[in-house]
Amino acid sequence: MDDTISSPARPAHRAARGHRWDQVELRPYKEDERALFKTVSRQILFSDPKLDAELRYFEVEPGGFSTLERHEHMHAVMVLRGRGQCLVGREVRDIELHDLVTVPPWTWHQFRAAASEPLGFLCMVNARRDKPQLPSDADLVELRKDETVARFLGADAAE
Ligand code: MN
Repeated sequence: MDDTISSPARPAHRAARGHRWDQVELRPYKEDERALFKTVSRQILFSDPKLDAELRYFEVEPGGFSTLERHEHMHAVMVLRGRGQCLVGREVRDIELHDLVTVPPWTWHQFRAAASEPLGFLCMVNARRDKPQLPSDADLVELRKDETVARFLGADAAE
């Protein structure tokens, strides 16, 4: 039998129920202990050595947020559930179902779910990528000079 066709490790079709995919592990968002984030889960939907990209689904619970970070690699994001806001560089945008967000290289970014709704999104990245950089105290002071950005970051990123 040719197990490349039916291998459970790499099935041709994985069913979805809600925003959970069959045979896709629900993982913690990050193992990085330096990172500041709140109530985010991660599912890796597509990842294969023969692909140069990975497609992941992240879900931020109501009131939660992803890590404020930057890195050389890019993100291509599509909102699949709920609503919230994102920070990309100095821009804060309201985001909702099917909105697209591009995060260019070396651009500070963070995703926040609305207080009463989760925020779920697909995120495409390079398979091989650099490690995220976290903001220094000086970076945070610089970011907070912009009133809109300061309001977006709230008290959470103050540490
Ligand atoms: Mn990132």
